Amino acid sequence: MNPLRIFHLSTECYPAAKAGGLGDVVGALPKYQNRAGHFAAVLMPKYSTEWILQQSTEMVFTASLVLNGKVRSFSIVRVVQESLGFELFLVDLPGLFDRNGIYIDPKTGKGFTDEAERNIGFQIAALEWLKVLDFKPDVIHCHDHHTGLIPFLVTETFRFQELRSIPTVLTIHNAGYQGIIGWERAGLIPAFQPERAGLLDWDGHINSLGCGLKSAWRVTTVSPGYMRELGRSAGGLERLFRFEINKCSGILNGIDTELWDPAHDAFLEHHLDERGLDAFKARNKEQLCTLLRLDSSKPLFAFIGRFAMEKGADLLADWISNGFWEGVQANYIVLGSGDHRVRDSLMALLDRHKGQMHLEIGYDEAFARRLYAAADFLLMPSRSEPCGLNQLYAYRYGTIPIVHAVGGLRDTVSDYGAQGGTGISFESLEAWEMLAALKKAEAMFSKTSLLSALRAKNRTLDYSWERSSLEYEALYAEIIEQDIHSHA
Ligand code: ADP
Repeated sequence: MNPLRIFHLSTECYPAAKAGGLGDVVGALPKYQNRAGHFAAVLMPKYSTEWILQQSTEMVFTASLVLNGKVRSFSIVRVVQESLGFELFLVDLPGLFDRNGIYIDPKTGKGFTDEAERNIGFQIAALEWLKVLDFKPDVIHCHDHHTGLIPFLVTETFRFQELRSIPTVLTIHNAGYQGIIGWERAGLIPAFQPERAGLLDWDGHINSLGCGLKSAWRVTTVSPGYMRELGRSAGGLERLFRFEINKCSGILNGIDTELWDPAHDAFLEHHLDERGLDAFKARNKEQLCTLLRLDSSKPLFAFIGRFAMEKGADLLADWISNGFWEGVQANYIVLGSGDHRVRDSLMALLDRHKGQMHLEIGYDEAFARRLYAAADFLLMPSRSEPCGLNQLYAYRYGTIPIVHAVGGLRDTVSDYGAQGGTGISFESLEAWEMLAALKKAEAMFSKTSLLSALRAKNRTLDYSWERSSLEYEALYAEIIEQDIHSHA
Protein backbone atom coordinates (compact mmCIF):
# COMPACT_ATOMS: atom_id res chain seq x y z
CA MET A 1 0.00 0.00 0.00
CA ASN A 2 1.03 3.64 -0.37
CA PRO A 3 3.06 5.02 2.52
CA LEU A 4 0.83 6.57 5.16
CA ARG A 5 1.37 9.39 7.63
CA ILE A 6 0.26 7.97 10.96
CA PHE A 7 0.18 10.05 14.12
CA HIS A 8 -0.13 8.17 17.39
CA LEU A 9 -1.52 10.24 20.26
CA SER A 10 -0.78 8.75 23.63
CA THR A 11 0.03 9.65 27.22
CA GLU A 12 2.73 6.96 27.41
CA CYS A 13 5.59 5.95 25.15
CA TYR A 14 8.64 3.96 26.18
CA PRO A 15 11.33 5.07 27.01
CA ALA A 16 9.99 8.62 27.52
CA ALA A 17 7.27 7.65 29.98
CA LYS A 18 5.87 4.23 30.78
CA ALA A 19 3.39 3.10 33.42
CA GLY A 20 2.54 -0.23 31.78
CA GLY A 21 1.78 -1.96 28.51
CA LEU A 22 0.49 1.19 26.79
CA GLY A 23 4.00 2.64 27.00
CA ASP A 24 5.55 -0.50 25.52
CA VAL A 25 3.09 -0.62 22.63
CA VAL A 26 3.35 3.05 21.65
CA GLY A 27 7.13 2.84 21.99
CA ALA A 28 7.30 -0.04 19.51
CA LEU A 29 4.43 -0.09 16.98
CA PRO A 30 5.48 3.17 15.21
CA LYS A 31 9.02 1.87 14.80
CA TYR A 32 7.75 -1.16 12.94
CA GLN A 33 5.33 0.95 10.90
CA ASN A 34 8.24 3.12 9.79
CA ARG A 35 10.20 0.04 8.82
CA ALA A 36 7.25 -1.01 6.69
CA GLY A 37 7.68 2.24 4.76
CA HIS A 38 5.16 4.50 6.48
CA PHE A 39 5.79 7.72 8.37
CA ALA A 40 4.67 7.03 11.93
CA ALA A 41 5.15 9.57 14.70
CA VAL A 42 4.14 9.82 18.34
CA LEU A 43 2.73 12.85 20.07
CA MET A 44 2.70 12.73 23.85
CA PRO A 45 2.79 15.12 26.83
CA LYS A 46 6.12 16.53 27.95
CA TYR A 47 6.45 15.19 31.47
CA SER A 48 9.45 15.88 33.64
CA THR A 49 10.64 12.28 33.57
CA GLU A 50 14.35 11.60 33.77
CA TRP A 51 14.53 10.42 30.15
CA ILE A 52 12.66 13.43 28.78
CA LEU A 53 14.74 15.89 30.76
CA GLN A 54 17.92 14.40 29.29
CA GLN A 55 16.86 14.82 25.64
CA SER A 56 17.75 17.63 23.32
CA THR A 57 14.71 19.01 21.60
CA GLU A 58 13.82 21.53 18.94
CA MET A 59 10.76 23.72 18.89
CA VAL A 60 8.29 23.04 16.10
CA PHE A 61 5.17 24.97 17.14
CA THR A 62 3.97 27.44 19.74
CA ALA A 63 0.44 28.66 20.38
CA SER A 64 -2.02 29.08 23.20
CA LEU A 65 -5.28 27.46 24.18
CA VAL A 66 -8.07 28.28 26.58
CA LEU A 67 -8.80 25.89 29.40
CA ASN A 68 -11.29 26.72 32.13
CA GLY A 69 -11.33 30.30 30.88
CA LYS A 70 -7.59 30.54 31.38
CA VAL A 71 -5.27 31.18 28.45
CA ARG A 72 -2.33 28.79 28.49
CA SER A 73 0.67 29.00 26.22
CA PHE A 74 2.06 25.74 24.98
CA SER A 75 4.64 24.47 22.58
CA ILE A 76 5.38 21.31 20.66
CA VAL A 77 8.95 20.13 20.56
CA ARG A 78 10.62 17.41 18.54
CA VAL A 79 12.96 15.06 20.33
CA VAL A 80 16.29 14.96 18.53
CA GLN A 81 17.00 11.26 18.86
CA GLU A 82 17.87 8.79 16.12
CA SER A 83 17.63 5.58 18.09
CA LEU A 84 13.87 5.47 18.70
CA GLY A 85 12.99 4.52 15.15
CA PHE A 86 10.19 7.11 14.97
CA GLU A 87 9.68 10.83 15.41
CA LEU A 88 8.65 11.76 18.92
CA PHE A 89 6.90 15.07 19.54
CA LEU A 90 6.18 16.37 23.02
CA VAL A 91 3.38 18.72 24.00
CA ASP A 92 4.82 21.13 26.51
CA LEU A 93 1.95 22.48 28.58
CA PRO A 94 3.51 24.21 31.59
CA GLY A 95 1.64 23.71 34.83
CA LEU A 96 -0.08 20.55 33.66
CA PHE A 97 2.55 18.02 32.63
CA ASP A 98 5.88 19.29 33.93
CA ARG A 99 5.70 16.86 36.83
CA ASN A 100 7.58 13.69 37.59
CA GLY A 101 4.56 11.35 37.79
CA ILE A 102 2.60 10.26 34.73
CA TYR A 103 -0.77 9.66 36.40
CA ILE A 104 0.12 9.34 40.06
CA ASP A 105 1.36 12.18 42.23
CA PRO A 106 4.60 10.79 43.75
CA LYS A 107 3.97 12.92 46.88
CA THR A 108 0.52 11.55 47.71
CA GLY A 109 0.61 8.18 45.90
CA LYS A 110 -2.79 9.12 44.43
CA GLY A 111 -3.93 10.11 40.95
CA PHE A 112 -3.53 13.78 39.97
CA THR A 113 -6.76 15.63 40.67
CA ASP A 114 -6.65 17.70 37.47
CA GLU A 115 -6.79 14.68 35.15
CA ALA A 116 -9.58 16.18 33.02
CA GLU A 117 -7.70 19.45 32.40
CA ARG A 118 -4.51 17.58 31.59
CA ASN A 119 -6.08 15.16 29.12
CA ILE A 120 -8.26 17.74 27.42
CA GLY A 121 -5.42 20.26 27.32
CA PHE A 122 -3.15 17.68 25.70
CA GLN A 123 -5.74 16.71 23.10
CA ILE A 124 -6.53 20.30 22.16
CA ALA A 125 -2.83 21.25 21.91
CA ALA A 126 -2.10 18.23 19.73
CA LEU A 127 -4.93 19.07 17.34
CA GLU A 128 -3.98 22.76 17.18
CA TRP A 129 -0.67 21.63 15.76
CA LEU A 130 -2.02 18.95 13.41
CA LYS A 131 -4.44 21.56 12.12
CA VAL A 132 -1.65 23.76 10.77
CA LEU A 133 0.68 21.03 9.53
CA ASP A 134 1.36 21.25 5.80
CA PHE A 135 1.06 17.53 5.39
CA LYS A 136 -1.98 16.32 7.26
CA PRO A 137 -1.95 12.86 8.79
CA ASP A 138 -3.66 10.07 6.87
CA VAL A 139 -4.67 8.47 10.15
CA ILE A 140 -4.88 9.77 13.71
CA HIS A 141 -4.39 6.79 15.99
CA CYS A 142 -5.58 7.41 19.56
CA HIS A 143 -4.77 5.25 22.55
CA ASP A 144 -7.04 4.76 25.58
CA HIS A 145 -9.39 7.21 27.24
CA HIS A 146 -6.78 9.96 27.61
CA THR A 147 -7.12 10.60 23.88
CA GLY A 148 -10.65 9.23 23.53
CA LEU A 149 -12.15 12.67 22.87
CA ILE A 150 -9.99 13.25 19.77
CA PRO A 151 -12.40 11.52 17.33
CA PHE A 152 -15.19 13.76 18.64
CA LEU A 153 -13.05 16.91 18.64
CA VAL A 154 -12.08 16.46 15.00
CA THR A 155 -15.54 15.63 13.71
CA GLU A 156 -17.79 17.75 15.90
CA THR A 157 -16.05 20.88 17.15
CA PHE A 158 -15.97 24.07 15.10
CA ARG A 159 -12.36 24.65 16.05
CA PHE A 160 -11.00 21.60 14.27
CA GLN A 161 -13.15 21.46 11.15
CA GLU A 162 -10.03 21.30 8.97
CA LEU A 163 -9.31 17.85 10.39
CA ARG A 164 -12.83 16.54 10.00
CA SER A 165 -12.12 14.15 7.15
CA ILE A 166 -9.10 12.47 8.73
CA PRO A 167 -9.84 8.90 9.79
CA THR A 168 -9.45 8.19 13.50
CA VAL A 169 -8.66 4.87 15.12
CA LEU A 170 -9.00 4.31 18.85
CA THR A 171 -7.10 1.45 20.43
CA ILE A 172 -8.34 0.38 23.83
CA HIS A 173 -5.57 -0.97 26.01
CA ASN A 174 -7.71 -1.00 29.13
CA ALA A 175 -11.44 -0.32 29.28
CA GLY A 176 -11.32 -0.25 33.07
CA TYR A 177 -10.26 3.40 32.91
CA GLN A 178 -12.76 5.57 31.06
CA GLY A 179 -11.93 9.22 31.76
CA ILE A 180 -15.27 10.13 33.30
CA ILE A 181 -15.88 13.87 33.60
CA GLY A 182 -18.88 15.61 35.16
CA TRP A 183 -21.04 17.66 32.77
CA GLU A 184 -20.38 20.73 34.90
CA ARG A 185 -16.91 20.70 33.34
CA ALA A 186 -18.13 20.53 29.74
CA GLY A 187 -16.74 24.06 29.26
CA LEU A 188 -13.29 22.48 28.92
CA ILE A 189 -14.34 21.14 25.52
CA PRO A 190 -14.28 23.48 22.50
CA ALA A 191 -17.71 24.52 21.12
CA PHE A 192 -19.84 22.08 19.11
CA GLN A 193 -23.47 21.79 18.00
CA PRO A 194 -25.43 21.17 21.23
CA GLU A 195 -27.47 18.38 19.64
CA ARG A 196 -24.24 16.37 19.25
CA ALA A 197 -23.69 16.28 23.04
CA GLY A 198 -25.04 12.74 23.18
CA LEU A 199 -21.79 11.53 21.63
CA LEU A 200 -19.97 12.63 24.75
CA ASP A 201 -22.44 11.20 27.21
CA TRP A 202 -22.73 7.85 28.88
CA ASP A 203 -24.94 7.36 31.92
CA GLY A 204 -25.17 11.08 32.62
CA HIS A 205 -21.45 11.85 32.45
CA ILE A 206 -18.94 12.75 29.83
CA ASN A 207 -17.24 9.43 29.23
CA SER A 208 -14.02 9.87 27.24
CA LEU A 209 -13.65 6.21 26.33
CA GLY A 210 -17.33 5.84 25.48
CA CYS A 211 -17.13 8.98 23.35
CA GLY A 212 -14.14 7.54 21.49
CA LEU A 213 -16.03 4.32 20.97
CA LYS A 214 -18.97 6.20 19.46
CA SER A 215 -16.98 8.72 17.42
CA ALA A 216 -13.87 6.93 16.09
CA TRP A 217 -13.95 5.44 12.63
CA ARG A 218 -12.57 2.19 13.98
CA VAL A 219 -11.95 0.80 17.43
CA THR A 220 -9.48 -1.91 18.30
CA THR A 221 -8.65 -3.71 21.50
CA VAL A 222 -5.30 -5.28 22.18
CA SER A 223 -6.43 -8.89 21.82
CA PRO A 224 -9.39 -10.64 20.16
CA GLY A 225 -10.25 -12.40 23.44
CA TYR A 226 -10.59 -9.09 25.30
CA MET A 227 -12.79 -7.73 22.51
CA ARG A 228 -15.21 -10.61 23.02
CA GLU A 229 -15.23 -10.12 26.80
CA LEU A 230 -16.02 -6.40 26.57
CA GLY A 231 -19.51 -7.15 25.26
CA ARG A 232 -20.20 -8.85 28.61
CA SER A 233 -18.06 -6.86 31.00
CA ALA A 234 -16.69 -3.39 30.29
CA GLY A 235 -17.15 -1.33 33.43
CA GLY A 236 -20.61 -0.17 32.36
CA LEU A 237 -19.85 0.24 28.64
CA GLU A 238 -20.78 -3.31 27.60
CA ARG A 239 -24.04 -2.22 25.91
CA LEU A 240 -22.12 0.32 23.88
CA PHE A 241 -19.49 -2.24 22.87
CA ARG A 242 -22.26 -4.54 21.66
CA PHE A 243 -23.88 -1.68 19.75
CA GLU A 244 -20.65 -0.61 18.04
CA ILE A 245 -19.41 -4.16 17.43
CA ASN A 246 -19.24 -3.74 13.64
CA LYS A 247 -16.45 -1.22 13.82
CA CYS A 248 -14.54 -3.03 16.56
CA SER A 249 -11.84 -5.65 16.23
CA GLY A 250 -9.13 -7.22 18.36
CA ILE A 251 -5.50 -6.98 17.26
CA LEU A 252 -3.07 -8.81 19.48
CA ASN A 253 -0.17 -6.68 20.71
CA GLY A 254 3.30 -7.52 19.55
CA ILE A 255 6.52 -7.08 21.48
CA ASP A 256 9.66 -5.23 20.53
CA THR A 257 11.97 -8.17 20.02
CA GLU A 258 14.99 -5.87 19.79
CA LEU A 259 14.40 -4.14 23.11
CA TRP A 260 13.38 -7.42 24.71
CA ASP A 261 16.24 -9.57 23.56
CA PRO A 262 18.01 -11.73 26.16
CA ALA A 263 21.09 -11.82 23.92
CA HIS A 264 21.55 -8.04 24.09
CA ASP A 265 19.39 -6.73 26.96
CA ALA A 266 21.38 -3.82 28.40
CA PHE A 267 19.83 -4.39 31.82
CA LEU A 268 21.40 -7.86 32.11
CA GLU A 269 24.90 -8.90 33.01
CA HIS A 270 24.54 -12.48 31.74
CA HIS A 271 23.29 -12.71 28.18
CA LEU A 272 21.93 -15.51 26.09
CA ASP A 273 24.85 -16.84 24.06
CA GLU A 274 26.12 -20.02 22.41
CA ARG A 275 25.86 -21.83 25.73
CA GLY A 276 22.10 -21.85 25.27
CA LEU A 277 18.90 -20.91 27.06
CA ASP A 278 19.26 -23.20 30.08
CA ALA A 279 22.70 -21.81 30.83
CA PHE A 280 21.33 -18.27 30.43
CA LYS A 281 18.57 -19.03 32.91
CA ALA A 282 20.90 -20.73 35.38
CA ARG A 283 23.40 -17.88 35.45
CA ASN A 284 20.77 -15.19 35.90
CA LYS A 285 18.93 -17.18 38.54
CA GLU A 286 22.11 -17.89 40.46
CA GLN A 287 23.06 -14.22 40.41
CA LEU A 288 19.69 -12.96 41.62
CA CYS A 289 19.21 -15.70 44.21
CA THR A 290 22.67 -15.07 45.66
CA LEU A 291 21.92 -11.37 45.88
CA LEU A 292 18.56 -11.93 47.58
CA ARG A 293 19.68 -14.92 49.67
CA LEU A 294 17.31 -17.40 48.08
CA ASP A 295 17.97 -21.05 47.34
CA SER A 296 18.58 -21.31 43.60
CA SER A 297 17.96 -25.05 43.53
CA LYS A 298 14.24 -24.47 44.11
CA PRO A 299 11.85 -23.32 41.43
CA LEU A 300 11.61 -19.53 41.33
CA PHE A 301 8.19 -17.95 40.82
CA ALA A 302 7.90 -14.25 39.98
CA PHE A 303 5.16 -11.66 39.78
CA ILE A 304 5.76 -8.36 37.97
CA GLY A 305 2.95 -5.85 37.82
CA ARG A 306 0.64 -3.30 39.29
CA PHE A 307 -0.87 -4.11 42.67
CA ALA A 308 -4.40 -3.82 41.33
CA MET A 309 -7.54 -5.95 41.48
CA GLU A 310 -7.51 -6.44 37.70
CA LYS A 311 -4.06 -8.02 37.97
CA GLY A 312 -5.30 -10.31 40.77
CA ALA A 313 -2.49 -8.95 42.94
CA ASP A 314 -4.74 -9.18 45.99
CA LEU A 315 -4.76 -12.97 45.52
CA LEU A 316 -0.99 -13.32 45.60
CA ALA A 317 -0.46 -13.53 49.36
CA ASP A 318 -3.03 -16.32 49.80
CA TRP A 319 -1.83 -18.12 46.70
CA ILE A 320 1.80 -18.14 47.83
CA SER A 321 0.80 -18.94 51.41
CA ASN A 322 -1.29 -21.91 50.27
CA GLY A 323 1.72 -23.12 48.31
CA PHE A 324 3.88 -22.98 51.44
CA TRP A 325 1.20 -24.77 53.48
CA GLU A 326 0.83 -27.51 50.93
CA GLY A 327 4.57 -28.07 50.79
CA VAL A 328 5.37 -26.63 47.35
CA GLN A 329 9.14 -26.27 47.53
CA ALA A 330 9.65 -22.91 45.86
CA ASN A 331 10.87 -19.34 46.20
CA TYR A 332 8.90 -16.24 45.21
CA ILE A 333 9.88 -12.76 44.11
CA VAL A 334 7.22 -10.10 43.78
CA LEU A 335 7.90 -6.78 42.02
CA GLY A 336 5.21 -4.14 41.94
CA SER A 337 3.47 -1.24 43.55
CA GLY A 338 -0.02 0.15 43.94
CA ASP A 339 -2.70 -0.87 46.43
CA HIS A 340 -1.21 -0.65 49.92
CA ARG A 341 -3.39 -3.51 51.18
CA VAL A 342 -1.71 -5.83 48.69
CA ARG A 343 1.69 -4.58 49.78
CA ASP A 344 0.81 -5.08 53.47
CA SER A 345 -0.50 -8.62 52.92
CA LEU A 346 2.71 -9.54 51.10
CA MET A 347 4.87 -7.93 53.78
CA ALA A 348 3.09 -9.95 56.46
CA LEU A 349 3.72 -13.12 54.45
CA LEU A 350 7.35 -12.16 53.95
CA ASP A 351 7.77 -11.87 57.73
CA ARG A 352 6.77 -15.51 58.08
CA HIS A 353 8.80 -16.79 55.12
CA LYS A 354 12.15 -15.01 55.13
CA GLY A 355 14.62 -16.82 52.92
CA GLN A 356 11.86 -18.07 50.63
CA MET A 357 10.52 -14.79 49.36
CA HIS A 358 11.58 -11.35 48.26
CA LEU A 359 9.37 -8.31 47.88
CA GLU A 360 10.51 -5.39 45.71
CA ILE A 361 8.15 -2.46 46.02
CA GLY A 362 8.22 0.09 43.22
CA TYR A 363 8.54 0.41 39.49
CA ASP A 364 11.95 -0.78 38.34
CA GLU A 365 12.59 -1.62 34.69
CA ALA A 366 16.07 -3.03 35.40
CA PHE A 367 14.87 -5.31 38.18
CA ALA A 368 11.96 -6.47 36.01
CA ARG A 369 14.36 -7.53 33.23
CA ARG A 370 16.56 -9.41 35.68
CA LEU A 371 13.52 -11.14 37.04
CA TYR A 372 12.24 -12.24 33.63
CA ALA A 373 15.72 -13.63 33.02
CA ALA A 374 16.08 -15.38 36.38
CA ALA A 375 12.62 -16.76 37.15
CA ASP A 376 11.46 -20.23 36.17
CA PHE A 377 7.76 -19.30 36.26
CA LEU A 378 5.82 -16.06 35.97
CA LEU A 379 2.58 -15.69 37.94
CA MET A 380 -0.32 -13.87 36.26
CA PRO A 381 -3.54 -14.36 38.24
CA SER A 382 -5.27 -11.49 36.38
CA ARG A 383 -9.02 -11.00 36.73
CA SER A 384 -8.96 -9.12 33.47
CA GLU A 385 -6.13 -8.86 30.94
CA PRO A 386 -6.63 -6.83 27.76
CA CYS A 387 -3.53 -8.43 26.23
CA GLY A 388 -0.80 -8.84 28.80
CA LEU A 389 2.76 -8.38 27.65
CA ASN A 390 4.49 -10.05 30.57
CA GLN A 391 3.73 -13.56 29.34
CA LEU A 392 5.15 -12.67 25.91
CA TYR A 393 8.34 -11.29 27.47
CA ALA A 394 8.45 -14.43 29.62
CA TYR A 395 8.49 -16.58 26.47
CA ARG A 396 11.45 -14.59 25.14
CA TYR A 397 13.39 -14.98 28.39
CA GLY A 398 12.72 -18.70 28.89
CA THR A 399 10.22 -18.25 31.72
CA ILE A 400 7.04 -20.32 31.81
CA PRO A 401 3.86 -18.28 32.36
CA ILE A 402 1.25 -19.49 34.86
CA VAL A 403 -1.94 -17.61 34.02
CA HIS A 404 -5.63 -17.24 34.65
CA ALA A 405 -7.26 -17.82 31.26
CA VAL A 406 -8.77 -14.40 30.55
CA GLY A 407 -8.57 -11.92 27.66
CA GLY A 408 -5.19 -11.89 25.97
CA LEU A 409 -3.85 -14.54 28.34
CA ARG A 410 -6.34 -17.01 26.95
CA ASP A 411 -5.27 -16.02 23.44
CA THR A 412 -1.55 -16.45 24.06
CA VAL A 413 -1.02 -19.15 26.71
CA SER A 414 -2.19 -22.73 26.24
CA ASP A 415 -2.08 -25.18 29.11
CA TYR A 416 0.70 -27.70 28.97
CA GLY A 417 -0.63 -31.22 28.73
CA ALA A 418 -0.70 -34.25 26.53
CA GLN A 419 -1.30 -32.03 23.48
CA GLY A 420 1.64 -29.77 24.23
CA GLY A 421 0.98 -26.19 25.31
CA THR A 422 3.10 -23.19 26.24
CA GLY A 423 2.51 -22.65 29.94
CA ILE A 424 0.17 -23.40 32.79
CA SER A 425 -3.30 -22.00 32.51
CA PHE A 426 -6.21 -22.25 34.95
CA GLU A 427 -9.85 -21.50 34.28
CA SER A 428 -11.02 -20.09 37.62
CA LEU A 429 -9.54 -18.14 40.48
CA GLU A 430 -10.60 -20.81 42.97
CA ALA A 431 -7.84 -21.35 45.52
CA TRP A 432 -7.63 -25.08 44.80
CA GLU A 433 -7.17 -24.50 41.09
CA MET A 434 -4.48 -21.92 41.64
CA LEU A 435 -2.72 -24.24 44.07
CA ALA A 436 -2.88 -27.06 41.53
CA ALA A 437 -1.11 -24.77 39.05
CA LEU A 438 1.77 -24.26 41.50
CA LYS A 439 2.03 -28.00 42.03
CA LYS A 440 2.00 -28.62 38.29
CA ALA A 441 4.84 -26.11 37.94
CA GLU A 442 6.79 -27.75 40.73
CA ALA A 443 6.44 -31.12 38.97
CA MET A 444 7.45 -29.58 35.65
CA PHE A 445 10.54 -28.06 37.27
CA SER A 446 11.69 -31.48 38.46
CA LYS A 447 11.64 -32.81 34.88
CA THR A 448 14.64 -30.91 33.59
CA SER A 449 14.47 -32.05 29.99
CA LEU A 450 10.75 -31.25 29.71
CA LEU A 451 11.32 -27.76 31.11
CA SER A 452 14.24 -27.22 28.81
CA ALA A 453 12.27 -28.33 25.72
CA LEU A 454 9.33 -26.12 26.64
CA ARG A 455 11.53 -23.08 27.13
CA ALA A 456 13.18 -23.67 23.77
CA LYS A 457 9.84 -24.16 22.02
CA ASN A 458 8.37 -20.98 23.51
CA ARG A 459 11.34 -18.98 22.26
CA THR A 460 10.26 -19.79 18.73
CA LEU A 461 6.75 -18.31 19.14
CA ASP A 462 6.24 -15.26 16.95
CA TYR A 463 4.67 -12.38 18.85
CA SER A 464 6.65 -9.75 17.01
CA TRP A 465 5.33 -6.42 15.85
CA GLU A 466 6.31 -7.35 12.31
CA ARG A 467 3.26 -9.60 12.41
CA SER A 468 0.82 -7.47 14.43
CA SER A 469 1.61 -4.19 12.68
CA LEU A 470 0.41 -5.74 9.41
CA GLU A 471 -3.05 -6.05 10.94
CA TYR A 472 -3.09 -2.33 11.74
CA GLU A 473 -1.92 -1.62 8.21
CA ALA A 474 -4.82 -3.66 6.83
CA LEU A 475 -7.24 -1.76 9.08
CA TYR A 476 -5.93 1.64 7.95
CA ALA A 477 -6.17 0.50 4.33
CA GLU A 478 -9.80 -0.49 4.84
CA ILE A 479 -10.86 2.84 6.32
CA ILE A 480 -8.98 4.87 3.74
CA GLU A 481 -10.61 2.82 1.01
CA GLN A 482 -13.99 3.36 2.64
CA ASP A 483 -13.30 7.10 2.74
CA ILE A 484 -12.42 7.20 -0.96
CA HIS A 485 -15.68 5.41 -1.82
CA SER A 486 -17.79 7.65 0.39
CA HIS A 487 -16.38 10.72 -1.38
CA ALA A 488 -16.55 9.23 -4.90
P1 ADP B 1 -0.58 -3.23 32.25
O1 ADP B 1 -2.02 -3.58 32.45
O2 ADP B 1 0.07 -2.85 33.54
O3 ADP B 1 -0.34 -2.26 31.17
P2 ADP B 1 0.86 -5.14 30.59
O4 ADP B 1 1.10 -6.61 30.77
O5 ADP B 1 0.21 -4.74 29.32
O6 ADP B 1 0.09 -4.63 31.86
O7 ADP B 1 2.28 -4.39 30.64
C1 ADP B 1 3.02 -4.35 31.78
C2 ADP B 1 4.38 -3.77 31.46
O8 ADP B 1 4.84 -3.05 32.61
C3 ADP B 1 5.45 -4.82 31.20
O9 ADP B 1 6.47 -4.25 30.39
C4 ADP B 1 5.98 -5.10 32.61
O10 ADP B 1 7.27 -5.67 32.59
C5 ADP B 1 6.00 -3.69 33.16
N1 ADP B 1 5.89 -3.58 34.62
C6 ADP B 1 4.78 -3.74 35.37
N2 ADP B 1 5.05 -3.49 36.67
C7 ADP B 1 6.36 -3.18 36.73
C8 ADP B 1 7.24 -2.81 37.79
N3 ADP B 1 6.82 -2.73 39.05
N4 ADP B 1 8.52 -2.53 37.49
C9 ADP B 1 8.95 -2.62 36.19
N5 ADP B 1 8.18 -2.95 35.15
C10 ADP B 1 6.90 -3.23 35.41
